Amino acid sequence: MAQAPRWWEVRRAQNLKPATYRCPLCGRHLPALSEHMLIVPEGDARGRRHAHADCVLAARRAGRLPTREEWRRAQTPPEPGEGGWARVRARLRGRRRGGDPR
Ligand SMILES: [Zn+2]
Repeated sequence: MAQAPRWWEVRRAQNLKPATYRCPLCGRHLPALSEHMLIVPEGDARGRRHAHADCVLAARRAGRLPTREEWRRAQTPPEPGEGGWARVRARLRGRRRGGDPR
């Protein structure tokens, strides 16, 4: 992958192979049979990495492993129109339309 992943999928690892991985978050070894997690860059299983559950949780708390949902929310800040002004405009329109007959 050319650029850094924008979001990560985090899963509980289910690995029964007695392999040893290196945790990408702390660089230490990680026995596959211990409790750990998979982090998957942008859901691409080919790039998945095994990481210590504690490291994943710490990274999540530090905001370094945003989920897709968190990333998406960060991409679309609330439209200014959705807040106050749209409501004010709608109210003005309503008044103009409903005001005259009586
Ligand atoms: Zn680690």
